Amino acid sequence: MLYDAAVIGAGPAGVTAALYLVRSGLKVALVENSATGGQILSTAEIENYPGFPKSVKGWELADLFEAHLANYSVERVRGQALSVEKQENGNFLLNLSEDKTLEACTVVACTGARHRPLGAPGEEAFAGKGVSYCAVCDGNFYRGRDVAVVGGGNSALEEALYLSRIVNKVYLIHRRDAFRGAMVYQDKIREAANIELVTGSVVDEIRGGAAGVEAVAVRHLADGATRTIPVDGIFIYVGMEPVSGYLPEEVNRDAAGFVLTDTEMVTSLPGIFAAGDIRAKRCRQVSSAVGDGATAATAAFSYLEQRNA
Ligand SMILES: Cc1cc2nc3c(=O)[nH]c(=O)nc-3n(C[C@H](O)[C@H](O)[C@H](O)COP(=O)(O)OP(=O)(O)OC[C@H]3O[C@@H](n4cnc5c(N)ncnc54)[C@H](O)[C@@H]3O)c2cc1C
Repeated sequence: MLYDAAVIGAGPAGVTAALYLVRSGLKVALVENSATGGQILSTAEIENYPGFPKSVKGWELADLFEAHLANYSVERVRGQALSVEKQENGNFLLNLSEDKTLEACTVVACTGARHRPLGAPGEEAFAGKGVSYCAVCDGNFYRGRDVAVVGGGNSALEEALYLSRIVNKVYLIHRRDAFRGAMVYQDKIREAANIELVTGSVVDEIRGGAAGVEAVAVRHLADGATRTIPVDGIFIYVGMEPVSGYLPEEVNRDAAGFVLTDTEMVTSLPGIFAAGDIRAKRCRQVSSAVGDGATAATAAFSYLEQRNA
């Protein structure tokens, strides 16, 4: 079947793009390899998305996205986009997992970003055995125990606060002396009695045994002093990398792989638009992803109108 638009990724950007496109009267496929919601499914509380003055849990917002989509005839396609090819007729062929294919006149790439690994010895060996990238998913395993959180941005601060309400103690390890995260989180972090700040320090190694993580070895950058902190788990939030490798090489990206667009979400390959965390931009949040999704859908609609004129 030929779709007017294929939206890849059902996070905040993709859900918004799909809603706008279907409400414009287009035939829309929404391709997703996991569940609706994207990164918000691994977010405990979202306090900064307008309309939820008492905050909203990530999974609750994802459920609302799903309910909103259900009002419209968006075709849900389960699968991972492996590659996208522009054909001679100007349409795009999407190669999906399980040998599925899909043809669409335009593509809106909303596959977001995933956690960058820390790169410390022990990280891979103890993945799923104490090393985690999702406090909401795994925090409960550490109830009453001690954990480390690594990072200094909003995600690290938010998740350290979330964990502090479950675990016995959180060591918040950050390579700089100052945090990048919002002041509202920094204030709460400093007020939390069971969060110890380990700043100006890097993780040299994650240590453990057959049962999993037992300690984290840290080094203070200024004086080289080392310290072994006994913990049962370590949660890593040291930045994100884009999920953009499946796009054609004609889609320009920055050195880190984030897709370059103009302010209308237009990429360097006509017919392909990009929205949300996949883009090269400064603010990666639910509200900006939603805005990008609406803008990309509007631009894709104009592109189709011009093409069909
Ligand atoms: C721990 C944490 C806490 C956060 N807290 C907040 C907060 O408090 N407030 C806030 O505004 N933002 C927060 N964010 C950021 C926010 O979640 C993201 O900015 C937002 O989800 C980006 O939306 P997106 O649609 O661009 O991408 P994503 O949410 O990354 O969604 C991308 C979707 O694409 C799918 N996908 C990926 N590759 C493929 C493929 N090849 N084929 C098919 N599907 C694919 C994924 O499964 C996913 O569902 C947080 C993020 C994290 C990780």
